[in-house]
Amino acid sequence: AAAHKWNFGAGPAMIPRPVLERAQAEFLNYNHTGVSLMELSHRSEAYENLNNKAQSQLRTLLHIPQNYKIIFMQGGGHTQFAAVVYNLIAWRHQQNKVQHRVNADQETWKNIPVDYIVTGSWSAKAAEEAKRLGANVRVVCDAKKQLGAYKGIPAESTWTTSDPEGALRREDRATGQTPAYLYYCDNETVNGVEFPFVPSMHDPAVPLVCDMSSNILSRPVDVSKFGVIYAGAQKNIGPAGVSVVIVREDLLQTSEAQDGVLPVPLMLDYKTMVKNNSLYNTPPMFAIYMSSLVFDWLLDPKAQKVQDGAYFERELVGVEAAAARNDRKASKLYKALEESRFCRVVVTDPAARSKMNVPFRISAAPKNDPAAVPNKAEDEKMEAAFVAKAEAMGLLQLAGHRSVGGIRASIYNAMTEEGVDVLIAFLKEFESQYR
Ligand code: PMP
Repeated sequence: AAAHKWNFGAGPAMIPRPVLERAQAEFLNYNHTGVSLMELSHRSEAYENLNNKAQSQLRTLLHIPQNYKIIFMQGGGHTQFAAVVYNLIAWRHQQNKVQHRVNADQETWKNIPVDYIVTGSWSAKAAEEAKRLGANVRVVCDAKKQLGAYKGIPAESTWTTSDPEGALRREDRATGQTPAYLYYCDNETVNGVEFPFVPSMHDPAVPLVCDMSSNILSRPVDVSKFGVIYAGAQKNIGPAGVSVVIVREDLLQTSEAQDGVLPVPLMLDYKTMVKNNSLYNTPPMFAIYMSSLVFDWLLDPKAQKVQDGAYFERELVGVEAAAARNDRKASKLYKALEESRFCRVVVTDPAARSKMNVPFRISAAPKNDPAAVPNKAEDEKMEAAFVAKAEAMGLLQLAGHRSVGGIRASIYNAMTEEGVDVLIAFLKEFESQYR
C-alpha cells in the first residue's frame, strides 16, 4: 500500500496536516494549563477564551458583520433542518403580531408558509423534515422534477418564490401569509450541485436561510444577504460534533412568540444559545478547539508548525486565497473528466458544478462512440475496480454516496493541488488500461 494517503472523503473529511500535528503537540498540555483541553471545565477562563477566539476568527475569515451572531451547536446538519423551522416560524409569528397581520392572533404555526428550493438530496431532506414537523412547506423549485435529475439549477424565472412584484406575493399580502423564510443548500454534497449565485428573486422581508455545510470557507460570501447560514463542521471546518450557525440579530426575537405558536426546544433555540454565548450547556469543546486550529491555519498558515510541505502551500491565506486554489483544483479535475473517454460528470450544467464535491460515472462504453452501448452491470464493476485500485494507490474514499453510487471526489480546502494532480494522473493511468 502507498505510504502517502490522499483523502477524498466527503465528510468527515481531510483535515490539514499542520492542524493535526499542532493538535497532537498540544494534546497533553493545553495552553500551559498542565491538562488536556478535554479535561478543562467549559466554564474555565481558558475555554472561554477559546470559545471567543474561535468566534472572532470565523468573523474575520468570512467578514461577518456585527449585527450577525455566531453560535456553536450540536446535532449536526440534521438538527439545523429542524432548528430553522422552529426559530423562524416563531419569529415570523411575532412579526405578524407586531404588524397586526390578519388573523395573527388565531395563527397556528401550520398556517405560516416556509419556502424551499430543492436542488439535491440535502435540501430535499430539509424540506421533508419541515413537513414532518407539520410546517406548511412550499417547494418553490424542485430540480429533480424540472430537470429529471439533480444535475443543475433551474432558472430563477421558473421558481415560484414570493418576489415583490409577483402573484404569489400579492396573495401573501392578502392572507397575511408571508413565508417565514426561503431555504436552500449552497452546495449539495451528494449530487455535486453548487450555487454560482445567491438567489435574488425573493422578497426582502423573507430571510434567506442557507445550508453551507460542505462549502463554507471555500469562497467569500456576502453574509449580509442572509438571515441564517449554518454548517456542520466535518467537511470544510474540522471534526464532526459542532455546527456553526450565523444568524442575523433581529431574527432572534422569539421569546414572546412562543405563546400561541410552537415553543422552541431550548437546545434548538438560537436566542438561548446567543444569550449564553454558546455555553448554555456543555459544548463539544474538542470539536470547537479543532475548528479554531483550522481557522488559524486559514488565517495565518505561516504560524503553523509544518513538517510536511506537501500538505501546505504558503500562499494560502484567508478565504479568498482558498477560493482561488479551489477554482484551480476544480477546473483541472473537471477538464480531465471532460477529456476522458470513460468518465461522465453527473452535473451537466457546467455553471452549477460544485468546486467541493465532484461526482462522476465511469462507463466502459466510450463517450465519443455513439455505437457503444453501456452495460450497467459492467460499468458498476468498472467503478468498483476504480475505487479499489485508487485505494491501493493511497487515494481514499472515492466511492459515491451510497444513495447514488458512482464516484465522488471531495476536494475541500484541505486538499492540495498536488492531491488533485495525483488523482488526475491515476484517472489517466486507469483509463489507459482499458484501451
Ligand atoms: N447538509 C449538507 C449539505 C450535508 O452535506 C450534510 C452531511 N453530509 C448534512 C446537511 C447533514 O449533516 P449531519 O450528518 O451533520 O447531520
